[in-house]
Amino acid sequence: MYVGRFAPSPTGPLHAGSLVAALASWLDARAHSGRWLVRIEDVDTPRCRPGAAELILNQLAACGLQPDEPPAFQSKRGAIYQQALDQLSARKLAYPCACSRKEIEQAQAARGVVRTRGNELPYPGTCRPPHHHADAHQSRTAKAWRLHSGLASGISGHDHLVRWHDRRLGDQEQNVEAAVGDFILKRADGLWAYQLAVVVDDADQCITHVVRGQDLADNTPRQILLQRALGLKTPSYMHTPLVVASDGEKLSKQNGAQALDLDDPLHALRQAAEHLALNPPQCNGTLTTALSQWTREWALKRV
Ligand SMILES: [Zn+2]
Repeated sequence: MYVGRFAPSPTGPLHAGSLVAALASWLDARAHSGRWLVRIEDVDTPRCRPGAAELILNQLAACGLQPDEPPAFQSKRGAIYQQALDQLSARKLAYPCACSRKEIEQAQAARGVVRTRGNELPYPGTCRPPHHHADAHQSRTAKAWRLHSGLASGISGHDHLVRWHDRRLGDQEQNVEAAVGDFILKRADGLWAYQLAVVVDDADQCITHVVRGQDLADNTPRQILLQRALGLKTPSYMHTPLVVASDGEKLSKQNGAQALDLDDPLHALRQAAEHLALNPPQCNGTLTTALSQWTREWALKRV
């Protein structure tokens, strides 16, 4: 049984870029006669805007993109994220880290690694057991939790390269330990990290197909590694083309993307469909007929 999802962060209303991802995941679910869920990814509470989740749900409804179940909110699911972290830490696959950002940068600089713009450097492994200094932790209380990517990579006979197939981008691979290092599962401020929340929720909601924007493609190997560490199935992945702003950057709430015009949802959907290389709807068509036309086209091209 196909189960797909659209998982927006409520940092602002939907815009042309996020509608492409929403439409693609909805079409893929409908073309597979599957179920389509919406999950509000509001774990990073300081970045969430009040009312944004409700606005997004109203925008989706105005566009005829109705989820098959009431939406899930990550902010209410801390208990199952904690269970997953407990399971990892009991198996020594997660460990506490008390490093500040500055300490991490200093440790990286000492090894001759310098941050370039937009490039997150691998965690230098300062607190990684068994080499960490026990007493260094005792005087420092705020602790984040990290995945031991080295141990997780070696689980169940996998080698250190995570390989997967993206339905649009083709075969992909990454050595997570080398490229990202031991990434955060729970932040020192107590907030859950995106990677852990997504992996636990996709499994808990029995998601079989993830269709999302290409900006998230780089997270996929970390999520697959976590799935393996937690003994969870890996869903099928497809990353959709990004909508680019006039400055060449990905269109986002941060670079002033306009909220969708709810008075003319068909116009917004037409643009999103065009971006997904679907044909314009027949003239005098309604929202419903346009969505069925695109579902048929999608089924021919992508299923
Ligand atoms: Zn540390």
